[in-house]
Amino acid sequence: MSLVTSLLSPKPRYRFYGSPRAYLSALRHAASFGSQRDQELGRLESEVRALTGSPFASCVPQARFGIYLALKALIRPGQEVIMSPYTIYDVVNMVLAAGGRPVFADIEQASCNISADAIESLISESTGAVMVTHLHGLACDMNRISAICNAHNIPIVEDAAQAFGGRIGKQWLGAIGDVGIYSFGRAKNINAFFGGMVISKDPAVEDAIRSELDQLPYEDTARLVKRIGHCMAGDLMTLPALFSPITFNIFRYAALNDVQSVNKVVQTENNPVRREELPEHYFRRMTHLQARIAREQLEALSLNTAVRTQYAKVYHEGLHDIPQLVLTPLRLDGSHIYLQFPIQTDDRWALVRHLMQEGRDVAVQHMNSVAELEPFADFARDCPVARRVADSVILLPTYPRYGMHDVEQNVLSIRRYFGKP
Ligand SMILES: *Cc1c(COP(=O)(O)O)cnc(C)c1O
Repeated sequence: MSLVTSLLSPKPRYRFYGSPRAYLSALRHAASFGSQRDQELGRLESEVRALTGSPFASCVPQARFGIYLALKALIRPGQEVIMSPYTIYDVVNMVLAAGGRPVFADIEQASCNISADAIESLISESTGAVMVTHLHGLACDMNRISAICNAHNIPIVEDAAQAFGGRIGKQWLGAIGDVGIYSFGRAKNINAFFGGMVISKDPAVEDAIRSELDQLPYEDTARLVKRIGHCMAGDLMTLPALFSPITFNIFRYAALNDVQSVNKVVQTENNPVRREELPEHYFRRMTHLQARIAREQLEALSLNTAVRTQYAKVYHEGLHDIPQLVLTPLRLDGSHIYLQFPIQTDDRWALVRHLMQEGRDVAVQHMNSVAELEPFADFARDCPVARRVADSVILLPTYPRYGMHDVEQNVLSIRRYFGKP
């Protein structure tokens, strides 16, 4: 390893997508912030329609609000929504706010995604929709799920918040079901400082969504500026020159010594709360500025997917012979975009501590099985696979700037932990 490489190592577990250009863009357009005279939202919507082949696309202030709008348009109050329990808890709130009753269908261990068999066994007269989540950018088994739902005439909502750009054959994830949702949040592969999109095939659904959105004010400037500030702080902390001498050492100390206050800084699912009604600040429209920032990142989308897929291949080839690990399937056909590369092992914190000790910065997946959470106890269902997976997943970095060298070092470090040459 050269001196420069070792000085700039370890690399952070996570970096935001988008480049400093996004901040420049934000500054450049600061003058027109409140005015919204631009056409950027419409341009982004038509670009995504062209990419996905979907007839309708509407920008939303956050993907979760799009889930709420989509379900509200699709189901009658009191109907059941069959969904994966391995997702962010606020998605459950969206189902409740839309008048639905969540029914958690267990997942498959390797893919971490909802099981088609579980969906089939839970469909009843009360089912209003099936919502699938393409978690970590890995496609659900849409061939089977579509067949099951079509046979029962039940609409499918695809939560493709983590899977923008994935395709099964020529069909985009999100454009296979009746409605698809994308996120442009800061942890996603298009980062517009929050924002998202709902695509749909059905003019009635589109009309329902549009007529709600059209009444809403744009995201307030103050909130947007605050989010940009958060993102900038995160970007600074993970700047290689600051990360390796400072931030990493704090994280490593916290991981090795179990300092929960620091560990919690990087976890977002700590305090699940149930809401039957959405907070007022959800009722906003995405801004033209955000659409502009998202559009600037579209050109790098497929190259980024290709780079992540290469990293996934190296992780898979380097780790598949370790019996104590459960890996995600390797698909090189474009259906899996590997927003991260999840691996599962029984004592995950022991492996994380080993990696941190060897100067490798990685994170445990912080999501819970929402089927087990106290605030949603009314809807509790035994989902043993989700419970086990939620305690076992470590996310290996795949963001394009990470670099193949660090992917290979992660593989070697994990192999050492398991005593493999
Ligand atoms: C990020 C995410 C969401 C919500 O996205 P927002 O744009 O933050 O609302 C929903 N589902 C999954 C699986 C996500 O990862």
